Amino acid sequence: MARTPNLASARAEAKAQSQSFTSFPIDPFQIAQDNDIVVMAGDSGQPGISGCIVFSGENAAIYYSRTINNTGFQRFTVAHELGHYFIAGHPEEILQDGGQHFSRAPFESPQAIEKEADTFAAHLLMPTNLSRNVLFAVPRGLRGISALSQAAVTSLTSAAIRAVELDPYPMAVIKSLNGQIQFSTLTDKLKTCGRIRSYSKNTQLPEVENPEDCLLSDWFDLAPAGIKAHGETISLGPYGTLTVITLKSAIIDPYEDIDEEAEEEAAIEESWKIRFKGQR
Ligand SMILES: [Zn+2]
Repeated sequence: MARTPNLASARAEAKAQSQSFTSFPIDPFQIAQDNDIVVMAGDSGQPGISGCIVFSGENAAIYYSRTINNTGFQRFTVAHELGHYFIAGHPEEILQDGGQHFSRAPFESPQAIEKEADTFAAHLLMPTNLSRNVLFAVPRGLRGISALSQAAVTSLTSAAIRAVELDPYPMAVIKSLNGQIQFSTLTDKLKTCGRIRSYSKNTQLPEVENPEDCLLSDWFDLAPAGIKAHGETISLGPYGTLTVITLKSAIIDPYEDIDEEAEEEAAIEESWKIRFKGQR
């Protein structure tokens, strides 16, 4: 039966479970061990399955696919399965369904239980304060996302999604495969720049001639004119491409003529730099 995901509860539970860690990386294997959950590399025999949790009486066991030869992916998978252990209602939901639950690749399932476990995993591995410290200490955009991914030992994609959620500055992240957009996500700070909306799934990725020196309107039709942007892309191998768009300025006001107000904008940027420093 379809139900609405309760992401707030997943986030709160992840925060509680990551609290004992004061520095990166968070160790989901340690959390499992502390809770007497057995973790094993296994093979589900089913293609596309990344992990599984099994409840039996008072005991729980987690399996992660040994076909995934990627530490970040394995850690995310174990963290996702821990979500099914810790989020209120998940063990009961899984027990009702026979006690075994198989999980697919992250961020792809529309099921409430999967969205909640993905959110739990992202927040467990990338707690708010630790992640913000990383994002504000490094250059904006792809370099910030890479730094978060490296510090937290997670995939670039999960770090990108979490970075957007933390809303450090105006930024868009687009994941595409063969030029078709799979998903896009925007920081709230970018949404305040004007009428900018995420792309629908399977939209064609815009072809921007000079992404390093482009306009926000090259990517988003409804963006206010004249806002200078910076697009970066990185290959995710068989998983496609990640595109990260940031603004050349730290802040823009959509109600002002950007070109004519460049001086004022620089002053605002300075004041924001100071505010950003204060948030570290
Ligand atoms: Zn799952």
